[in-house]
Amino acid sequence: MRRVSRQAVWFTAVTLVVLGAGALHSYVAQSRFDEVKIEAEKVADGIYMLKGAGGNMGVSVGEDGVFLIDDQYGPLSDRIKAAIKELGGGAPAFLLNTHYHGDHTGGNSAFDATTPILAHDNVRARLVAGHQPFGGDPKPAPPEALPDLTYSDTITLHFNGEKVEVVHYPNGHTDGDSVIFFTGSDVVHMGDDMFAGMFPFVDLSAGGSVQGLARNVESILGRIGPETKLIPGHGPVSTKKDLEGYLKMLRETLTIVQKRMDAGQSLEQIKEAGLPEQWDALGQGFIKTDRWLETLYNSLKDNA
Ligand SMILES: [Zn+2]
Repeated sequence: MRRVSRQAVWFTAVTLVVLGAGALHSYVAQSRFDEVKIEAEKVADGIYMLKGAGGNMGVSVGEDGVFLIDDQYGPLSDRIKAAIKELGGGAPAFLLNTHYHGDHTGGNSAFDATTPILAHDNVRARLVAGHQPFGGDPKPAPPEALPDLTYSDTITLHFNGEKVEVVHYPNGHTDGDSVIFFTGSDVVHMGDDMFAGMFPFVDLSAGGSVQGLARNVESILGRIGPETKLIPGHGPVSTKKDLEGYLKMLRETLTIVQKRMDAGQSLEQIKEAGLPEQWDALGQGFIKTDRWLETLYNSLKDNA
């Protein structure tokens, strides 16, 4: 009897531990970042795209150390650091924010102690103000998350044996977008001025405009070569041809909506008419076709 009773106690204890672990696991699993893995894809010698959750990161690893572009979300910082270590790098010598959005700047605090953060003037101003792209109460960034070095037009890094030109393109995705040209490697990090294979999010609340975005993309196309590899803010590594297709989409969908507005159609009517299949297929991502039509409408209305 005594023996059985001990077994029963033991069994109950094990059951409780297992149940407890299960409950803890489901609690932890509530974080959307738990299952996120940071994966590196080689783009050129010493240059990689890092994917996880949020905007694609770029990293240059070489004799001068590490130059990191964007840092996704705070909970991923340790995994990002581990991925950089696997590529043979250490703490970044520089970190650059392509724009202020939280899926590109969320890890700033975790890198600040060892790494100067670079960004366009407007990125710092928006982080200080705590601007929220989808409205809601401002959430000012803590001081350690703010860029240390800001520029108004361009800044050039001489790093890992090449000239890295950082150029501000005004009023595209936001009012503080940087595009980074690795001139020796022939690689460009587009920030969110490019969403590959899907309609883009354009932050009209932060100085972005679809017309401005199209102008910026046209200007970038004039600067790159036929073999240039592009790291988009979202989507897979792309080519010049992909960017040309993206510009065509921006232009043609702008024209479609402008014509309907000129004909006196309301936003509801414009949404109802939709887009030709060729473009509608790009509405499978974060921005659905309705949302893209609304963005085009508001962008054209604001900048008429
Ligand atoms: Zn963005």
